[in-house]
Amino acid sequence: MGDSDRGDVKISEHLCKGCGLCIEACPAEVLIQGDLLNRQGYYSAVYRGSGCTGCAICFYVCPEPGAITVLVNKSKKKPAA
Ligand code: SF4
Ligand code: SF4
Repeated sequence: MGDSDRGDVKISEHLCKGCGLCIEACPAEVLIQGDLLNRQGYYSAVYRGSGCTGCAICFYVCPEPGAITVLVNKSKKKPAA
């Protein structure tokens, strides 16, 4: 996670079925399709490594339980006004 990132996303490569829904849905456009087949024969989604906002949209659109975990960096949240 970079210093400026509000979130971090972990994609479990072996649970991903490469449907691409998370890639399409990510507003920050930080998810891409990998170029290596996983053990199920799918091209897993991959995080670019920076820029995640922690919005969790990818988590909610993913049909595969456990494939995506989103971590929110709470220390980067703006204090309530
Ligand atoms: S949490 Fe949001 S910004 Fe981060 S990868 Fe998922 S959809 Fe993209
Ligand atoms: S939505 Fe889930 S199964 Fe589909 S590409 Fe993303 S992580 Fe993989």
